[in-house]
Amino acid sequence: MRVNKSVVWDFFSRSENYKVNKKATCLECNENVKGSGNTTNFVTHLRTNHESVLAKYLTAKLQQQQQIARAACPPSNQQNNQTSNVSANTRSQSKK
Ligand SMILES: [Zn+2]
Repeated sequence: MRVNKSVVWDFFSRSENYKVNKKATCLECNENVKGSGNTTNFVTHLRTNHESVLAKYLTAKLQQQQQIARAACPPSNQQNNQTSNVSANTRSQSKK
């Protein structure tokens, strides 16, 4: 299963000619934002203008990543060594 829909499209509406002009409309403020072939400019727009929407976007993105991770690596097949390494890394990274 391949997931290629970015959750950023929950917050932007792509123009009819998106493939050509890379433009999308922010659903929050109806501003036209020009992309650069990826979603960076759209995320930047949320970060700059709509902090609360950015939080929603990040949450949705995290949930999507977790769904992909679950699909790729069912819990019953996890190897103990890999699991403990991953959780150790996560702990050290999140520690501030
Ligand atoms: Zn906006």
